[in-house]
Amino acid sequence: MTVLAVAEHRRGDLRDVSFELVSAGRELAGELETDLAVAVIGGDVEGFADELNREGVDTVYTIAEGEEFNHGVYTQSIEQLYADVDPTALLLPNSVNGLDYAPAVAGSLDLPLVTDVIALGGGDSIEVTREQYGGKVETTYSIDADRYALTIRPAEWPAAGAAGDATIEAFEVDVDEASLGSTVNGFEEVGGGDVDITDADVLVSVGRGIEEEENIPLVEELADVLGATLSSSRPIVDNGWLPQNRQVGQSGKVVTPDVYIAVGISGAVQHVAGMKGADTIVAINSDPNAPIYDIADYGIADDLFEVVPELIAEFGGEAPDV
Ligand SMILES: Cc1cc2nc3c(=O)[nH]c(=O)nc-3n(C[C@H](O)[C@H](O)[C@H](O)COP(=O)(O)OP(=O)(O)OC[C@H]3O[C@@H](n4cnc5c(N)ncnc54)[C@H](O)[C@@H]3O)c2cc1C
Repeated sequence: MTVLAVAEHRRGDLRDVSFELVSAGRELAGELETDLAVAVIGGDVEGFADELNREGVDTVYTIAEGEEFNHGVYTQSIEQLYADVDPTALLLPNSVNGLDYAPAVAGSLDLPLVTDVIALGGGDSIEVTREQYGGKVETTYSIDADRYALTIRPAEWPAAGAAGDATIEAFEVDVDEASLGSTVNGFEEVGGGDVDITDADVLVSVGRGIEEEENIPLVEELADVLGATLSSSRPIVDNGWLPQNRQVGQSGKVVTPDVYIAVGISGAVQHVAGMKGADTIVAINSDPNAPIYDIADYGIADDLFEVVPELIAEFGGEAPDV
């Protein structure tokens, strides 16, 4: 019995979800009273293995195949490692990449797959919790199978911290190049340059309360004076006022900054799904009953067109005329 988690990396860096998978894996391994193995496929596998060697990890398997994510390489590698390790549980990230290969791997290994898991529990059998109806309902399932695969929602578990003493093992796979359906030739960022809102410590996020595209520079200036990154709710992106890579939420990105300042955002469940993991949430919304105040640590229930210029001035900037 082993729990086997698969790490994720992109453009030379392990993604946060890799360390969250270690925490979730450790929890599950504790429930199952078994050990935890983590696999990393492609890129600087040795460097990644050092980083993944966290407390509670027994083995890190390195699979030196390719540089970036490739569906065929991942599925073939995981299937071959699975045959060798024979784990009870396969833990994968519920990310764009994870959702690309998890169903294929589960299908070919004939494993039941539960996606987007937000909590794990024990008992006579392992229980997993998922959200339904856009987060309004949580459902807990008992897994009635000896072996299974789970995808873990990013930002639900803390990142594993202290360094560990795992065994690092290179695992050789035999990838059938002829059957790879695709090759990765490079990266092209979707609009908005290289900004990755998931990396920001402070986010100023703008919502429909901003009313018009012409008013966006006001919140942009607030972000500037605070040294923050600008993000948004979905309507702003749908209107084409900011590029897609700025969208926070269920169909955008999951962010975990130190500070999240929501300006003119109501706090719909689909938005909250992407930012509830922020350490400190500040809301500026003229409606004191807006749901964002249910999760905000601090709030200013006033007109953003009054509040934001005052904040900009407070931090030494000058609000643009909007
Ligand atoms: C399948 C699905 C996926 C979705 N995915 C996402 C997602 O990833 N991200 C996301 O954000 N949404 C998502 N949505 C949309 C989501 O349901 C909401 O519609 C959206 O989050 C609302 O955005 P908002 O808060 O900016 O706008 P609104 O809900 O319109 O809220 C605007 C807020 O601004 C306040 N306001 C207005 N004027 C002022 C003012 N002058 N000063 C201060 N406050 C003011 C209002 O009181 C209001 O609370 C999704 C929906 C579906 C169905």
